[in-house]
Amino acid sequence: MLFRGIPASHGIAIGSAFLLKVEELRHARRILESHEEAEGEVKRFQTAVFSVRHDLENIADSMGDVVEGRQILEFLLLLLQDPMIKKEVEGGILTGMVNAEYAVSTTFRGVMEKFDVMDDPYIRERVADVKDVGRRLIEKLIGTEKEALNNLEQPVVLVAKDLDPSETAGLKPGQVLAFVTDMGGRTSHTTILARALGIPAVVGLQRITSEIHPGDTLIVDGIHGHVIVNPTEEELKYYRDVKARFMEAENLLQQMNPGPALTEDGNRIELAANIELPHEVELVKKLGADGIGLFRTEFLRLIQENGENEEDHYEIYEKIASEMLPKSVIIRTYDMGGDKFRTGLDTVREANPFLGYRAVRIGLERPAEFSIQLRAILRASVHGNIRLMFPMVTHVEQLRRLRDLLKLVQNDLTARGIPFDKKMQIGIMVETPATVIALDLMLPYVDFVSIGTNDLTQYTLAVDRGNPRVADLYDSFHPAVLRQIDTVVRVSHSQGKWVGVCGSMAGNPLAVPLLIGFGVDELSVAPSLIPDVKKMIAVVSTCAAREMAEKSLSIETGLMVRALVHSYVIGKYPEILLDENDWKTGG
Ligand code: PEP
Ligand code: MG
Repeated sequence: MLFRGIPASHGIAIGSAFLLKVEELRHARRILESHEEAEGEVKRFQTAVFSVRHDLENIADSMGDVVEGRQILEFLLLLLQDPMIKKEVEGGILTGMVNAEYAVSTTFRGVMEKFDVMDDPYIRERVADVKDVGRRLIEKLIGTEKEALNNLEQPVVLVAKDLDPSETAGLKPGQVLAFVTDMGGRTSHTTILARALGIPAVVGLQRITSEIHPGDTLIVDGIHGHVIVNPTEEELKYYRDVKARFMEAENLLQQMNPGPALTEDGNRIELAANIELPHEVELVKKLGADGIGLFRTEFLRLIQENGENEEDHYEIYEKIASEMLPKSVIIRTYDMGGDKFRTGLDTVREANPFLGYRAVRIGLERPAEFSIQLRAILRASVHGNIRLMFPMVTHVEQLRRLRDLLKLVQNDLTARGIPFDKKMQIGIMVETPATVIALDLMLPYVDFVSIGTNDLTQYTLAVDRGNPRVADLYDSFHPAVLRQIDTVVRVSHSQGKWVGVCGSMAGNPLAVPLLIGFGVDELSVAPSLIPDVKKMIAVVSTCAAREMAEKSLSIETGLMVRALVHSYVIGKYPEILLDENDWKTGG
């Protein structure tokens, strides 16, 4: 089950739910009998203020150099000692002859109401701070301090109606993997603190506390504001990958060289990035990539649990394209099936899913649904430099039907006066031997092709790319794969079409000289690989790359091809000593 809220603090976490009970800021009234009793209540209130002050100061000290945290606690201390509030509580006790808890709850609720009607959203968000202080006072007065979050036995995802800023400040990042709350906004102190502490968080989920049970497995996607309760194996696998990528990206920026990718002799190589999630654009820009060579859109399926929604697609495409301007973004239409995202396809189990109902085969069978994605891409195309790419095209008829469908959508947009880029480039992925062999017949329908070496290797060698029992046979340096790459480049160039490589092979430093040598026009790799690939490009001359590529075509085995490249670069790039597995699989 997926919930959408406000992304409060970046990061991904996976863990089991811990539900936090919440005390309401409301307390029963007790009428006091005598003036002495009232004096006693004032004293109790003053002792509670003193004790809360002590607690808050301790939390502030424990924040070390988390500046935002210290500032927020200072604000709570100010509220706690505010003379107006103090006067109102004490006056309430003495003139109303009521107990301290009641006077505190009515005073603080009154202050919250005043904050709540302010126009300024920043001031409105301070309601949570007032409530935090009021609640702490009441807990002191009634002597039931809240469940100590610090004593959790194992790391958990915290689920709460709301978290007070001071509670958040007390969270230990090692113990609380993430938190999700019903309440909260982008600028609340709880949110600011979560960011300062580096704890992923999604807030403003409205009813999540009533949907989650203790111990449920949760995925918290603090980047998009999504929470998945009891995810499927597929969703778990996907988010584990995303999490790993996110953490890798954090480290990566330290070693970047944001300049263009140049060969030893100064030839510029187009080096683009493959992304799967919109937020990766930020990193891609910092790394100085020459565009996005592959945007895998399958993740959108995860956030569309009530069916396809054009606006969800559009917003993401528009944002990525405009952020990347003037660089281009290749959006690949859904590539479901095979090993990817079978959930929601309502298909029967297939004996051979990689040879089955997948990618454009699904899109062409469900044109109405597929058109939603096409419309969104077209609409976004006026905001950036978007290119459209179809995966797994094996038959010319498919390509004709895809173009017809696209035309239909374009005509509809024109009729409604909705603008789109009429010159948007259209391409296909080359992922099967059929596409390579019949490429000359397909090229008239496209502006470019991008070689998906992951699938091309699997379909050429008849080796399932995900099956460990046959993993030793999976080799992107196999002569049959290299010869097809060479063919694709030659045939495409003879028809004036450009060629990219977006499969993992493009990110393997040992393959880079070969791909350059074959004359590939663009390499597109995972953002984390950009620095290594750039380094490899810098030590290879165009002439040597051509020679190596030429030679590789008549070498019998993939291992020998890798040895050839290795012997050339080892002197110039000693860190290239790769793991044997990287050598084999093409990264
Ligand atoms: C490929 O097949 O090489 C490719 C880039 O697509 P994916 O890995 O998404 O199947
Ligand atoms: Mg593929």
